[in-house]
Amino acid sequence: MSDDVRHEIRSVLDAVVLPHADSWEEQGHIPADGWRALAETGLLSLPHEGPGFLRSAVFLEELGGTGYAGVRAAIGVHAYMAPAYLRMFGTDAQRAAWLRSDRIAALAITEQNAGTDLSSLSTVAKPDGAGHRLTGEKFYVANGSTADYFVVLAKTREGGTTRVLSGASLFVVDGRSPGITRHPQRTLGWRAADTCRVSFDGVVADGVIGRPDRALLQLMPALDFERLVAGLLAVGGVRHCLDLLRSFVRSHRVRGEALSANQAVRHRLADLDAQFELVRAFAHRLAEEHCAGRLDTKAAAVLKLTATELAVAAAQACVQFHGARGYLDDSAPARLYRDAMAGTIAAGASELMRDLIFESGR
Ligand SMILES: Cc1cc2nc3c(=O)[nH]c(=O)nc-3n(C[C@H](O)[C@H](O)[C@H](O)COP(=O)(O)OP(=O)(O)OC[C@H]3O[C@@H](n4cnc5c(N)ncnc54)[C@H](O)[C@@H]3O)c2cc1C
Repeated sequence: MSDDVRHEIRSVLDAVVLPHADSWEEQGHIPADGWRALAETGLLSLPHEGPGFLRSAVFLEELGGTGYAGVRAAIGVHAYMAPAYLRMFGTDAQRAAWLRSDRIAALAITEQNAGTDLSSLSTVAKPDGAGHRLTGEKFYVANGSTADYFVVLAKTREGGTTRVLSGASLFVVDGRSPGITRHPQRTLGWRAADTCRVSFDGVVADGVIGRPDRALLQLMPALDFERLVAGLLAVGGVRHCLDLLRSFVRSHRVRGEALSANQAVRHRLADLDAQFELVRAFAHRLAEEHCAGRLDTKAAAVLKLTATELAVAAAQACVQFHGARGYLDDSAPARLYRDAMAGTIAAGASELMRDLIFESGR
């Protein structure tokens, strides 16, 4: 993708995200006028697949590069992670009804006792006339208080799910349906991501997504895609963090000289930068593989693991070399540090990524 495209996307984000991001963080969500302005840029409806995905890849990296991981998570879930299920497995009617830039999306998979291990799922979907009624409670749902629709995982077969989720299905649920209650959950970081506990009390689903009772068939490719998206966002976040740190150590003086004059500082930055270049190159290669329809579970897990863990290491160095000013609650390094810790948990914890990599090893 040309540098022109990257610069164009960056300047759009500079105009529509950066002036408002602190206020969105404070409000705990992106408000309606923010979503509207973002939708008008056309950046919320870029391709998920085929050669056009390269534009998405640049967008995701640049979105991460804004340095606001709560904002990037809200947008990532709305434009990629939740709609992926409808794009991949939905009917034409479902896509026409829900994949509109004015409909905010949320993904409601995780429960209090079903995160890494989705076979412990307790939300149930009972047949009701031609459709289903959902009852259960989902946790950590990004865009939870503002979502116009939810993609929800629920059990559809008595006797519980097996390890491979053979008795579960995915549903699209209209956010206006009676029986939905949204409870904001205060989180350490990702504050603009609007993380909520969402209760479904006999809620009538709009429809099943894909094959009933076979959620695993949908989850596997969609989760690989989610990890590619999370990895690209994190790569942008690392770049932002290292740029901030580099500029600080060059300008901040201790004992009469720039902090960057110290080898300990230069080498720490060089090590992080070297890892960043490798992860970024891998992310770009994976984006191209995905364009060609060749995204695999191991590669997606490698990217998600390495990019999000590098973000933690970079954020830690950023706070450390900023000294106490980077420990102030309202400082950028402190936000980067808080935010980085969500990246290694959300979209599959690092330990799960390691399990996936090991299991699909040579
Ligand atoms: C900020 C944020 C936003 C989120 N947004 C959403 C959302 O929009 N929608 C949604 O459905 N979910 C969302 N999640 C939930 C996320 O997907 C889960 O947190 C994740 O899948 C892990 O599940 P869990 O938190 O229940 O941890 P658990 O599964 O209970 O695991 C706890 C910890 O145990 C460790 N662990 C797990 N498995 C292993 C293992 N095999 N070996 C060693 N250690 C292990 C890991 O460190 C893990 O963090 C979000 C989470 C966060 C933090």
